[in-house]
Amino acid sequence: MKPFTELAVPGIRKLHPYQPGKPIDELERELGISNIIKLASNENPLGPSKKALAAIEKELPELALYPDGSGHKLKQRLAQKLSLSPAQITLGNGSSEILELVLRVFAQAGDEVVFSAHAFALYPLLTQAIGATPVEVPAIDWGHDLDAMLAAITDKTRVLFVTNPNNPTGTWVARDALKTFIERVPEDVIIVMDEAYYEYASYLYPDDYPDAMQWLTAHPNLLVTRTFSKVYGLAGLRVGYGVCHPQMAELLNRLRPPFNVNSLALSAARHSLDDEEHLQASVEMNRAGMQQLEAGITQMGLDYIPSAGNFIAVDVGREGQGLFDALLREGVIVRPVANYAMPNFLRVTVGKPEENQRFLSSLQKVLS
Ligand SMILES: *Cc1c(COP(=O)(O)O)cnc(C)c1O
Repeated sequence: MKPFTELAVPGIRKLHPYQPGKPIDELERELGISNIIKLASNENPLGPSKKALAAIEKELPELALYPDGSGHKLKQRLAQKLSLSPAQITLGNGSSEILELVLRVFAQAGDEVVFSAHAFALYPLLTQAIGATPVEVPAIDWGHDLDAMLAAITDKTRVLFVTNPNNPTGTWVARDALKTFIERVPEDVIIVMDEAYYEYASYLYPDDYPDAMQWLTAHPNLLVTRTFSKVYGLAGLRVGYGVCHPQMAELLNRLRPPFNVNSLALSAARHSLDDEEHLQASVEMNRAGMQQLEAGITQMGLDYIPSAGNFIAVDVGREGQGLFDALLREGVIVRPVANYAMPNFLRVTVGKPEENQRFLSSLQKVLS
């Protein structure tokens, strides 16, 4: 008889699990050190809005009840904010759940899924899991090569991902180029615009960075995903959303697990949308911190990829893994990105000014 491990379906047998950023308490356990800073998962250094925290506290006595499985109030609030219909919104347990839903609804074994090299690791992982074929398109200057992506579309292509801005490179696709691209993608290919860092990018590059939601009406094959994990500081609660044609939303909803977003997350997300001040403080701190990091990196004689997100990919000019380990011993957690075919880079999340400084001095120290 076969060992039971070989009973796993082929897509799963070939899979390597997603590697998350190293948690602070894991490093504490391993090295017995304290005063650790984590700049590894693009979390908001300011944390969640106070309004979100108050909403969570208010929700606690109701925890015996199932959450609203339709997420009615959060969808209403989002619809109002984004000027679209609640029927266009799908809520997810993080936006990564939306990425999984769209793949499982539209692709199966034999189908092709197109994305860029150096793009978010979840796309190939989820594609392989459903037995579909990942088609990775080589990048240009570390960013999406939209012409090459168009050329990669075949009869078998069902879903195509554009990450804007891209993680881990921080590169972004400008408005005109993206508009032309979306117009040229055949209508029977689902375009997923992953805008996890939308709020940061639109603040850093207001003239150039596009809001893909403006093209939803003209392109029913478009799905735009965003999240409360990044600028809203709610990564621990797991809530994100997708916006698309109501009939696409209806298809996603067939597969969406009931109660996929918990009641604390629903309420915290909704109230965090009311805190314009916290949002402003977060994106402003990110802009200043990005300048601080860019200046410090340049001063060390290193290069970086200009970024529209809340993180920056630093070219450390040698194997990043060794420097990552050395930085851990300094109590600084960043992200090695060799698994993104970027062995000489480290990805660093923009933190508070003192955290950025600590990263820069630690990097200086471990380099010498
Ligand atoms: C962080 C991130 C996400 C979403 O994370 P969730 O916590 O699941 O919302 C999606 N795409 C990219 C590119 C990301 O970096």
